[in-house]
Amino acid sequence: MLTIENLSKTYANGVHALRGVNLTIPRGLFGLLGPNGAGKSSLMRTLATLQEADDGTVKLGEIDVLRDKRAVRRVLGYLPQDFGLYPRIDAETLLDHFASLKGIDDSEDRRQSVESLLRLTNLWQVRKQRLGTFSGGMRQRFGIAQALLGKPELIIVDEPTTGLDPEERRRFLNLLARIGEEAVIIFSTHLVADIRELCSEMAVIEKGSVRLTGQPDRLIAALEGRLWCTTVESHEPAVHGSGVTVLSTHLRAGRTVARVESACCPGPAYRAVQPNLEDVYFKTLRECA
Ligand code: ADP
Repeated sequence: MLTIENLSKTYANGVHALRGVNLTIPRGLFGLLGPNGAGKSSLMRTLATLQEADDGTVKLGEIDVLRDKRAVRRVLGYLPQDFGLYPRIDAETLLDHFASLKGIDDSEDRRQSVESLLRLTNLWQVRKQRLGTFSGGMRQRFGIAQALLGKPELIIVDEPTTGLDPEERRRFLNLLARIGEEAVIIFSTHLVADIRELCSEMAVIEKGSVRLTGQPDRLIAALEGRLWCTTVESHEPAVHGSGVTVLSTHLRAGRTVARVESACCPGPAYRAVQPNLEDVYFKTLRECA
Protein backbone atom coordinates (compact mmCIF):
# COMPACT_ATOMS: atom_id res chain seq x y z
CA MET A 1 0.00 0.00 0.00
CA LEU A 2 1.26 3.45 -0.92
CA THR A 3 -0.13 6.37 1.08
CA ILE A 4 0.36 9.92 -0.15
CA GLU A 5 -0.67 12.79 2.10
CA ASN A 6 -0.74 16.48 1.32
CA LEU A 7 2.04 16.26 -1.25
CA SER A 8 2.96 19.62 -2.75
CA LYS A 9 5.54 20.84 -5.20
CA THR A 10 6.24 24.28 -6.63
CA TYR A 11 8.99 24.59 -9.22
CA ALA A 12 11.52 27.43 -9.15
CA ASN A 13 9.58 29.13 -11.98
CA GLY A 14 6.53 29.37 -9.69
CA VAL A 15 4.43 26.57 -11.28
CA HIS A 16 2.41 24.74 -8.60
CA ALA A 17 2.75 21.27 -10.07
CA LEU A 18 1.28 19.41 -7.05
CA ARG A 19 -1.21 20.99 -4.66
CA GLY A 20 -1.84 18.90 -1.57
CA VAL A 21 -2.19 15.51 -3.27
CA ASN A 22 -3.81 12.77 -1.15
CA LEU A 23 -4.01 9.23 -2.49
CA THR A 24 -4.17 5.72 -1.08
CA ILE A 25 -2.98 3.23 -3.64
CA PRO A 26 -3.41 -0.51 -3.05
CA ARG A 27 -1.55 -3.36 -4.75
CA GLY A 28 -2.42 -3.93 -8.40
CA LEU A 29 -2.72 -1.61 -11.34
CA PHE A 30 -3.64 1.95 -10.45
CA GLY A 31 -4.37 4.38 -13.27
CA LEU A 32 -3.47 8.05 -12.97
CA LEU A 33 -5.40 9.97 -15.61
CA GLY A 34 -5.06 13.63 -16.46
CA PRO A 35 -4.48 16.05 -19.33
CA ASN A 36 -1.00 17.16 -20.34
CA GLY A 37 0.49 19.42 -17.71
CA ALA A 38 -1.77 18.09 -14.93
CA GLY A 39 1.16 17.06 -12.72
CA LYS A 40 1.35 13.32 -13.43
CA SER A 41 5.08 13.23 -14.17
CA SER A 42 5.82 15.53 -11.24
CA LEU A 43 4.04 13.07 -8.96
CA MET A 44 5.75 10.07 -10.54
CA ARG A 45 9.22 11.62 -10.30
CA THR A 46 8.64 12.51 -6.67
CA LEU A 47 7.53 8.96 -5.85
CA ALA A 48 10.55 7.63 -7.75
CA THR A 49 12.80 9.77 -5.48
CA LEU A 50 14.08 11.81 -8.42
CA GLN A 51 12.89 15.15 -7.14
CA GLU A 52 12.13 16.71 -3.79
CA ALA A 53 8.65 17.63 -2.61
CA ASP A 54 8.05 20.87 -0.68
CA ASP A 55 5.56 19.38 1.69
CA GLY A 56 3.69 16.19 2.56
CA THR A 57 4.39 12.57 3.41
CA VAL A 58 4.54 9.38 1.36
CA LYS A 59 4.68 5.91 2.90
CA LEU A 60 5.23 2.65 1.05
CA GLY A 61 4.36 0.12 3.73
CA GLU A 62 6.81 1.09 6.47
CA ILE A 63 9.15 3.06 4.20
CA ASP A 64 9.14 6.85 4.44
CA VAL A 65 9.51 7.52 0.72
CA LEU A 66 10.52 11.19 0.91
CA ARG A 67 13.18 10.62 3.59
CA ASP A 68 14.54 7.14 3.03
CA LYS A 69 15.35 7.28 -0.66
CA ARG A 70 17.80 4.38 -0.58
CA ALA A 71 15.19 2.05 0.86
CA VAL A 72 12.73 3.11 -1.86
CA ARG A 73 15.25 2.59 -4.64
CA ARG A 74 15.84 -0.99 -3.49
CA VAL A 75 12.19 -1.85 -4.11
CA LEU A 76 11.44 0.51 -7.01
CA GLY A 77 11.00 -0.17 -10.71
CA TYR A 78 10.62 2.95 -12.85
CA LEU A 79 9.89 3.50 -16.51
CA PRO A 80 10.24 7.24 -17.16
CA GLN A 81 8.41 9.03 -19.94
CA ASP A 82 11.60 9.63 -21.90
CA PHE A 83 13.40 6.36 -21.42
CA GLY A 84 16.79 6.78 -23.10
CA LEU A 85 18.50 3.76 -24.61
CA TYR A 86 21.97 2.92 -25.79
CA PRO A 87 21.31 2.31 -29.49
CA ARG A 88 24.44 0.26 -30.20
CA ILE A 89 24.01 -2.26 -27.41
CA ASP A 90 21.89 -5.39 -27.75
CA ALA A 91 18.91 -5.92 -25.47
CA GLU A 92 20.33 -8.85 -23.53
CA THR A 93 23.64 -7.14 -22.76
CA LEU A 94 21.99 -3.93 -21.60
CA LEU A 95 19.45 -5.74 -19.44
CA ASP A 96 22.28 -7.74 -17.87
CA HIS A 97 24.09 -4.46 -17.19
CA PHE A 98 20.98 -2.96 -15.55
CA ALA A 99 20.64 -6.13 -13.48
CA SER A 100 24.19 -5.63 -12.16
CA LEU A 101 23.38 -2.02 -11.29
CA LYS A 102 20.29 -3.24 -9.48
CA GLY A 103 22.56 -5.35 -7.28
CA ILE A 104 21.85 -8.80 -8.73
CA ASP A 105 25.46 -9.88 -8.24
CA ASP A 106 25.28 -13.63 -8.71
CA SER A 107 25.83 -14.29 -12.44
CA GLU A 108 23.46 -17.29 -12.57
CA ASP A 109 20.69 -15.30 -10.81
CA ARG A 110 21.31 -12.50 -13.25
CA ARG A 111 21.18 -14.78 -16.28
CA GLN A 112 17.90 -16.26 -15.06
CA SER A 113 16.19 -12.97 -14.35
CA VAL A 114 17.36 -11.47 -17.66
CA GLU A 115 16.07 -14.49 -19.56
CA SER A 116 12.71 -14.60 -17.79
CA LEU A 117 12.12 -10.86 -18.27
CA LEU A 118 13.06 -10.97 -21.95
CA ARG A 119 10.62 -13.85 -22.37
CA LEU A 120 7.89 -12.08 -20.39
CA THR A 121 8.21 -8.97 -22.55
CA ASN A 122 8.34 -11.02 -25.73
CA LEU A 123 11.84 -9.84 -26.60
CA TRP A 124 13.67 -13.16 -26.29
CA GLN A 125 13.81 -13.69 -30.06
CA VAL A 126 15.36 -10.25 -30.60
CA ARG A 127 17.67 -10.24 -27.58
CA LYS A 128 20.82 -10.05 -29.74
CA GLN A 129 19.44 -7.13 -31.72
CA ARG A 130 20.75 -3.62 -31.10
CA LEU A 131 18.31 -1.40 -29.26
CA GLY A 132 18.66 1.25 -31.97
CA THR A 133 16.77 -1.09 -34.33
CA PHE A 134 13.80 -1.53 -31.96
CA SER A 135 10.34 -0.09 -32.68
CA GLY A 136 8.66 2.20 -30.14
CA GLY A 137 6.65 -0.68 -28.73
CA MET A 138 9.73 -2.92 -28.38
CA ARG A 139 11.57 -0.12 -26.60
CA GLN A 140 8.70 0.33 -24.14
CA ARG A 141 8.60 -3.42 -23.49
CA PHE A 142 12.35 -3.34 -22.87
CA GLY A 143 11.65 -0.43 -20.50
CA ILE A 144 9.26 -2.62 -18.56
CA ALA A 145 11.79 -5.46 -18.48
CA GLN A 146 14.36 -3.18 -16.82
CA ALA A 147 11.72 -1.77 -14.45
CA LEU A 148 10.87 -5.30 -13.27
CA LEU A 149 14.45 -6.30 -12.40
CA GLY A 150 14.84 -7.33 -8.78
CA LYS A 151 11.08 -7.95 -8.25
CA PRO A 152 10.12 -4.39 -7.23
CA GLU A 153 7.28 -3.67 -4.79
CA LEU A 154 6.57 -0.27 -6.34
CA ILE A 155 6.42 0.02 -10.13
CA ILE A 156 5.98 3.42 -11.74
CA VAL A 157 5.22 3.65 -15.44
CA ASP A 158 4.92 7.19 -16.81
CA GLU A 159 2.76 7.60 -19.95
CA PRO A 160 4.09 4.44 -21.60
CA THR A 161 1.60 4.24 -24.47
CA THR A 162 2.30 7.70 -25.89
CA GLY A 163 3.47 7.34 -29.49
CA LEU A 164 2.70 3.62 -29.81
CA ASP A 165 0.62 2.40 -32.73
CA PRO A 166 -2.59 0.51 -31.85
CA GLU A 167 -1.06 -2.95 -32.07
CA GLU A 168 2.01 -2.03 -30.03
CA ARG A 169 -0.23 -0.32 -27.50
CA ARG A 170 -2.37 -3.45 -27.19
CA ARG A 171 0.69 -5.65 -26.62
CA PHE A 172 2.03 -3.23 -24.07
CA LEU A 173 -1.25 -3.04 -22.12
CA ASN A 174 -1.49 -6.85 -22.15
CA LEU A 175 2.00 -6.98 -20.71
CA LEU A 176 1.13 -4.55 -17.93
CA ALA A 177 -1.99 -6.59 -17.16
CA ARG A 178 0.19 -9.70 -16.78
CA ILE A 179 2.52 -8.12 -14.24
CA GLY A 180 -0.21 -8.84 -11.74
CA GLU A 181 -1.24 -7.92 -8.28
CA GLU A 182 2.00 -8.52 -6.39
CA ALA A 183 3.19 -4.92 -6.43
CA VAL A 184 1.82 -1.38 -6.32
CA ILE A 185 1.81 -0.43 -9.99
CA ILE A 186 1.09 3.18 -10.91
CA PHE A 187 0.48 3.86 -14.53
CA SER A 188 -0.09 7.39 -15.86
CA THR A 189 -1.81 8.28 -19.09
CA HIS A 190 -3.83 10.99 -20.79
CA LEU A 191 -5.84 8.29 -22.62
CA VAL A 192 -9.11 7.26 -21.01
CA ALA A 193 -9.13 4.00 -22.97
CA ASP A 194 -5.86 2.87 -21.34
CA ILE A 195 -7.44 3.09 -17.91
CA ARG A 196 -10.74 1.51 -18.87
CA GLU A 197 -9.02 -1.53 -20.29
CA LEU A 198 -6.56 -2.05 -17.52
CA CYS A 199 -7.10 -0.57 -14.10
CA SER A 200 -9.33 -1.61 -11.23
CA GLU A 201 -8.65 1.66 -9.39
CA MET A 202 -8.00 5.11 -10.76
CA ALA A 203 -7.56 8.78 -9.98
CA VAL A 204 -8.05 11.88 -12.10
CA ILE A 205 -5.49 14.61 -11.55
CA GLU A 206 -5.81 18.12 -12.95
CA LYS A 207 -3.86 21.30 -12.20
CA GLY A 208 -1.90 19.52 -9.52
CA SER A 209 -4.89 18.26 -7.51
CA VAL A 210 -6.64 14.92 -7.30
CA ARG A 211 -10.19 15.53 -8.56
CA LEU A 212 -11.63 12.04 -8.44
CA THR A 213 -10.71 8.57 -7.22
CA GLY A 214 -12.51 5.25 -7.43
CA GLN A 215 -13.16 2.12 -9.40
CA PRO A 216 -13.90 2.83 -13.08
CA ASP A 217 -17.02 0.59 -13.10
CA ARG A 218 -18.51 2.33 -10.08
CA LEU A 219 -17.72 5.79 -11.36
CA ILE A 220 -19.49 4.94 -14.62
CA ALA A 221 -22.45 3.41 -12.76
CA ALA A 222 -22.91 6.68 -10.85
CA LEU A 223 -23.80 8.37 -14.17
CA GLU A 224 -26.35 5.70 -15.12
CA GLY A 225 -29.66 7.28 -16.24
CA ARG A 226 -28.13 10.78 -16.47
CA LEU A 227 -26.55 10.72 -19.92
CA TRP A 228 -28.27 12.03 -23.06
CA CYS A 229 -27.18 12.58 -26.59
CA THR A 230 -28.38 14.95 -29.31
CA THR A 231 -27.31 15.69 -32.87
CA VAL A 232 -27.59 19.10 -34.52
CA GLU A 233 -26.43 20.55 -37.83
CA SER A 234 -22.89 21.77 -37.29
CA HIS A 235 -23.81 25.41 -38.04
CA GLU A 236 -26.65 25.39 -35.47
CA PRO A 237 -25.76 26.07 -31.87
CA ALA A 238 -26.94 23.21 -29.65
CA VAL A 239 -29.42 24.68 -27.16
CA HIS A 240 -29.45 23.08 -23.75
CA GLY A 241 -31.65 24.06 -20.82
CA SER A 242 -30.69 24.76 -17.23
CA GLY A 243 -29.50 21.77 -15.24
CA VAL A 244 -27.93 20.36 -18.41
CA THR A 245 -24.14 20.06 -18.58
CA VAL A 246 -22.50 19.46 -21.93
CA LEU A 247 -19.77 16.88 -21.31
CA SER A 248 -18.44 16.57 -24.84
CA THR A 249 -19.17 17.40 -28.46
CA HIS A 250 -17.77 15.91 -31.61
CA LEU A 251 -18.41 16.12 -35.33
CA ARG A 252 -19.87 13.13 -37.12
CA ALA A 253 -20.59 13.29 -40.86
CA GLY A 254 -20.77 17.10 -40.75
CA ARG A 255 -23.16 17.19 -37.77
CA THR A 256 -22.41 17.92 -34.13
CA VAL A 257 -23.09 15.20 -31.60
CA ALA A 258 -23.33 16.43 -28.00
CA ARG A 259 -23.31 14.23 -24.91
CA VAL A 260 -24.91 15.94 -21.95
CA GLU A 261 -25.61 15.16 -18.32
CA SER A 262 -29.04 15.89 -16.89
CA ALA A 263 -31.22 14.36 -14.16
CA CYS A 264 -34.05 13.97 -16.69
CA CYS A 265 -34.44 14.00 -20.47
CA PRO A 266 -33.68 17.58 -21.64
CA GLY A 267 -36.10 17.45 -24.60
CA PRO A 268 -37.51 15.53 -27.56
CA ALA A 269 -34.29 15.83 -29.57
CA TYR A 270 -32.38 13.84 -26.96
CA ARG A 271 -32.00 10.12 -26.49
CA ALA A 272 -30.71 8.24 -23.49
CA VAL A 273 -27.20 6.77 -23.82
CA GLN A 274 -25.05 4.53 -21.67
CA PRO A 275 -22.38 6.44 -19.76
CA ASN A 276 -18.74 5.52 -20.28
CA LEU A 277 -15.45 6.40 -18.63
CA GLU A 278 -14.87 9.27 -21.02
CA ASP A 279 -18.10 10.88 -19.74
CA VAL A 280 -16.83 10.46 -16.17
CA TYR A 281 -13.53 12.08 -17.12
CA PHE A 282 -15.09 15.02 -18.98
CA LYS A 283 -17.55 15.61 -16.16
CA THR A 284 -14.65 15.74 -13.71
CA LEU A 285 -12.71 18.20 -15.85
CA ARG A 286 -15.83 20.35 -16.35
CA GLU A 287 -16.37 20.53 -12.61
CA CYS A 288 -12.87 21.79 -11.96
CA ALA A 289 -12.74 24.23 -14.93
P1 ADP B 1 2.00 15.87 -16.85
O1 ADP B 1 2.97 14.76 -16.61
O2 ADP B 1 0.64 15.60 -16.28
O3 ADP B 1 1.93 16.29 -18.29
P2 ADP B 1 3.95 17.54 -15.48
O4 ADP B 1 4.13 17.01 -14.10
O5 ADP B 1 5.00 17.21 -16.50
O6 ADP B 1 2.50 17.17 -16.03
O7 ADP B 1 3.85 19.13 -15.42
C1 ADP B 1 3.03 19.82 -14.48
C2 ADP B 1 3.33 21.32 -14.59
O8 ADP B 1 4.64 21.57 -14.10
C3 ADP B 1 3.31 21.84 -16.02
O9 ADP B 1 2.81 23.15 -15.98
C4 ADP B 1 4.77 21.84 -16.42
O10 ADP B 1 5.03 22.82 -17.39
C5 ADP B 1 5.46 22.15 -15.10
N1 ADP B 1 6.79 21.54 -14.98
C6 ADP B 1 7.09 20.22 -15.10
N2 ADP B 1 8.41 20.01 -14.85
C7 ADP B 1 8.94 21.22 -14.56
C8 ADP B 1 10.27 21.67 -14.22
N3 ADP B 1 11.29 20.82 -14.12
N4 ADP B 1 10.44 23.00 -14.00
C9 ADP B 1 9.41 23.85 -14.10
N5 ADP B 1 8.15 23.51 -14.41
C10 ADP B 1 7.91 22.21 -14.65
